[in-house]
Amino acid sequence: MTAAPARTRVRVRVSGIVQGVGFRPFVHALAAAHDLGGFVGNDDAGVVAEVEGSPEGVDAFVATLRQRPPALAVVDTVSVAALPPCGESTFVIGPSRVTGHRDALVSADTAPCADCLAEVSDPADRRHRYAFTNCTHCGPRFTIVRDVPYDRVTTTMAGFAMCAACAAEYHDPADRRFHAQPTCCPACGPTLRLTGLGGPDDDPVRAAAAALADGAVLAVKGLGGYHLAARADDAAAVSRLRAAKRRDQKPFAVMVADLAAAGGLVVVDEAAAAVLSSRRRPITLLRRRPGAPVADAVAPGNRDLGVMLPYTPLHHLLATELGAAFVLTSGNLSDEPIAVADDDARDRLGPLVDGFLVHDRPIHVRAEDSVVRMHRGAELPVRRARGYAPEPIALGFGAPRPVLGLGAEVKSTVCLLRGRRAVLSPHLGDLTNPEAWRAFRHMTGHLARLFGVEPAVLAHDLHPDYLSTKEAVEREEAGDGVELVGVQHHHAHVAACLAEHGRTPEDPPVLGVAFDGTGLGLDGAVWGGELLLADLAGCERLGHLAYVPLPGGAAAVREPWRMAAAYLPDEPGLAVRDRHGDAWDAVTAMARSGVASPPTSSAGRVFDAVAALVGVRDTVTYEGQAAVELEQLVDPGERGAYPAAVDGGLIAGIDLVRAAADDLRRGVAPGRIAARFHHGLADATVRAAGAAAAERGVRTAVLSGGVFVNEVLLERVRSGLEALGLAVLVPTRVPCTDGGISLGQVAVAAAREIGGGHG
Ligand SMILES: [Zn+2]
Ligand SMILES: [Zn+2]
Repeated sequence: MTAAPARTRVRVRVSGIVQGVGFRPFVHALAAAHDLGGFVGNDDAGVVAEVEGSPEGVDAFVATLRQRPPALAVVDTVSVAALPPCGESTFVIGPSRVTGHRDALVSADTAPCADCLAEVSDPADRRHRYAFTNCTHCGPRFTIVRDVPYDRVTTTMAGFAMCAACAAEYHDPADRRFHAQPTCCPACGPTLRLTGLGGPDDDPVRAAAAALADGAVLAVKGLGGYHLAARADDAAAVSRLRAAKRRDQKPFAVMVADLAAAGGLVVVDEAAAAVLSSRRRPITLLRRRPGAPVADAVAPGNRDLGVMLPYTPLHHLLATELGAAFVLTSGNLSDEPIAVADDDARDRLGPLVDGFLVHDRPIHVRAEDSVVRMHRGAELPVRRARGYAPEPIALGFGAPRPVLGLGAEVKSTVCLLRGRRAVLSPHLGDLTNPEAWRAFRHMTGHLARLFGVEPAVLAHDLHPDYLSTKEAVEREEAGDGVELVGVQHHHAHVAACLAEHGRTPEDPPVLGVAFDGTGLGLDGAVWGGELLLADLAGCERLGHLAYVPLPGGAAAVREPWRMAAAYLPDEPGLAVRDRHGDAWDAVTAMARSGVASPPTSSAGRVFDAVAALVGVRDTVTYEGQAAVELEQLVDPGERGAYPAAVDGGLIAGIDLVRAAADDLRRGVAPGRIAARFHHGLADATVRAAGAAAAERGVRTAVLSGGVFVNEVLLERVRSGLEALGLAVLVPTRVPCTDGGISLGQVAVAAAREIGGGHG
């Protein structure tokens, strides 16, 4: 008599992004391959499976789960516990269970996979030209999820009952739509409609493409909101679009059908091609080709152009049908957030457009398009939203209690930290805008709901007038039992970069270079050109750009010429002075008196002064515009650099501005002045930061703050510090702008609670 073969049974828990990515079908197939019985299901914590069979089969099952999970899965942990075998030999997919403790994560929205695109373009397929085709490997996620666990009923697809054919795929473990929650087809899913143009619309995409080709401006309902679209090479249509948006100068992004089309407009190297065609599909800012067929009004004053590839089947169909690049920009006026609700879009966008290309799948979470630049072959995030959020950032340490970071004020995001996992919201916009404020309130609640956790700590900026700070104070006063932690703005910039690079509170301090436009300093001044000795818990100011008055406060941010006056009040023979006459004298008098003129060390404001001097612009229509345009002006052939004194950590910005004024009088071209200014500021920063690092024995530098979106400055400061032997960390996953502040805030609050650090 032979003994029965040994059997083992284990329970496996998988956490991370494991719901909505085809994990259960994957587990089902894996169990079948190893002849295992048991079950798999989703619960609030992720995926749980029990498998039973031969010890070798169970081991191989667990090893594959760890090493080769499905493509879209981001596995945090796989825990295994032994159970007594119970003789189960069949394997089933169980229902989702809610246990009260929510730890499952929702994926980011993902561009269509090759299989889905093949179906969409196959005339014999039942999903031929179907704009909402998706599967477990691709499609809408975060923007349609209302709640966890992730099932069709908790998404905005709940109202679409699956047809028999879709249901058969959904229940077939061998099908790639097995348990694909948003799956649908022309018979049962959302439908497209083209309104406002008259004529037949039996094929709304074809009719929309024809209208665009004829010069129409259309509103197009997409994944995370409504866009406005117009042919990119149609100057009249783009100008109408620009006038409608009241967005005077801000560059528009364009969508093209594929990489080949992108290469016709901008210079696409291998790294840029990988980013453009990644499943996240960000707008990628690349150097525009001379003579590219794009109207001047698309990106006035810019040598770069923001390009993206289609990220839904709808966009693929539209781009292919049109066969030309088209502007695709957020559907809103000027600085408002992108419209998401159908009635709101009709009200706000109706007067601006010739027609609407819409569908009936509701958008639950607003998500703008993400924006990146390229820096040394990697992404330099500018705006993090659709395709990235809410994918978590793993910290190098765990928070004792959940922390919610409320961010700053412009380019707002919020961030929920639980354990080691930080979930950063998509870009929410400027909180002083009522729509953005509503989005901010909704997002703080939504993240807490998806996590199933109420934050115990609220981390906020030190600026008492920021709406995000007021929200923190109100919540504390409401008696919710939350604890407040104030985090200095530039410390948060540095901490965000430390956090994304997995640093811990025990790591030695770094030399943080935080350059941005505005942030309240510990001395009450307006900081923005800071050299900080920083770790996650604390920081010490080692140096900064020398103070100058900020004449008129916020008015000086809107009117860069005021900074030229603040830096060079008595300089004769300046065109910028002549342009403003009596106002120049009034502003310089105000600056001298100190009335409404707080001292500032802002790096952004030095850019403003030089931009106004060389005639780039005297006023701005969006934040940071003067600096963006000054960078675009840089003559790449110019090697010179203005000298600037560095004394005791103080960088004399005045030296740079005066040198620019001298060159201007000598008739030096603005492009060369712009280059010499960038180089001079970078070199002075390297000297000041290098000296401070050497004095304090620091081996690592961090570059953060919105000014470092400037690639000319970033590259020169980075290589300068590296030449001094310092390791340099730059943001790669979270924007260096105020969009990253909320991550820095939660990291600092958690580090302080642990009590680590050197500050
Ligand atoms: Zn797919
Ligand atoms: Zn169907």
